[in-house]
Amino acid sequence: MISRSFQAPAKINLSLDILRRREDGYHELCMVMQSVSLCDTVRLDLGSPGGIRAESGLRFLPNDKNNLAVAAALAFRQATGGQWRDLLISIQKRIPVCAGTAGGSSDAAAVLRGLRALTDSALSPEALAKIGEAVGSDVPYCVLGGTALAQGRGERLQPLPPLPPCWVVLCKPAFSISTPALFRSWDSCKPRLRPDTKGLIAGLEAGDLVAVARRIFNVFEAVLPPRQRREIESIKTALIREGALGAAMSGSGPTVFGLFDREAEAKQAVQVLRESYAEVFLTRPLADFSPGEV
Ligand code: ATP
Repeated sequence: MISRSFQAPAKINLSLDILRRREDGYHELCMVMQSVSLCDTVRLDLGSPGGIRAESGLRFLPNDKNNLAVAAALAFRQATGGQWRDLLISIQKRIPVCAGTAGGSSDAAAVLRGLRALTDSALSPEALAKIGEAVGSDVPYCVLGGTALAQGRGERLQPLPPLPPCWVVLCKPAFSISTPALFRSWDSCKPRLRPDTKGLIAGLEAGDLVAVARRIFNVFEAVLPPRQRREIESIKTALIREGALGAAMSGSGPTVFGLFDREAEAKQAVQVLRESYAEVFLTRPLADFSPGEV
């Protein structure tokens, strides 16, 4: 049996734009993605008898192929023609579930990177990302990590210069949001305010944190049901009041994040938000997975 643990970082959307609804029913997206240091740990025991299965100690998460981590292992084995049968995937969850921070997709990506390492596969990161496409739209990005522009359903990726060093405070309110319902609301009202993606990328290219923070923006916020929108707004306001340079909801929410240039202010924001919310995290941006690193 070969065993090894791999990190699975959460992601935030520095921007999320919807360009149009496509003929195939999916939406054409344009998003600037960023990995952060809040991570699940994914341990792989290759050769542990019992087939391919997951365990997380969380009763509400599936352990079979409905777990994205198991789906990724099956996709990897099929794509590489692997002859192995048994794999235990033990997931220590820290990333909130159904939070807009790609926890499941990141677990899946960690399995892909992990199996590549454990089976000595020569697959390129891009080939690995391609295998992830069938598992979930955010999986290809999570395979590569770092700062990237994601287009199409999220699978067309272009690496971007890293977010300048800063602190990222995440706060997940207790409610959950249905992603399909948000897309349907967008279809019916197509909000006019859109992110300045070009300006955001120019800010990254200039290494200008303030320019980036001013442009973080998520079109989904405009189509949230009123009560949820008010709560997202109040978390953003609290973050800005504590010194965040900018704040927005990540993905289809409900996690809200704020970017800080000062550690003390970020820590103070965490303290303040913890008075009202159970899931608040102080994180840093992460760079991409450089070759050889898993
Ligand atoms: P995204 O930001 O990509 O939209 P999310 O943060 O909204 O993701 P996840 O936590 O990744 O949502 O996944 C939510 C759904 O996926 C849940 O219904 C959960 O049961 C299922 N799921 C399957 N595998 C996993 C996993 N390994 N971790 C978390 N959720 C998983």
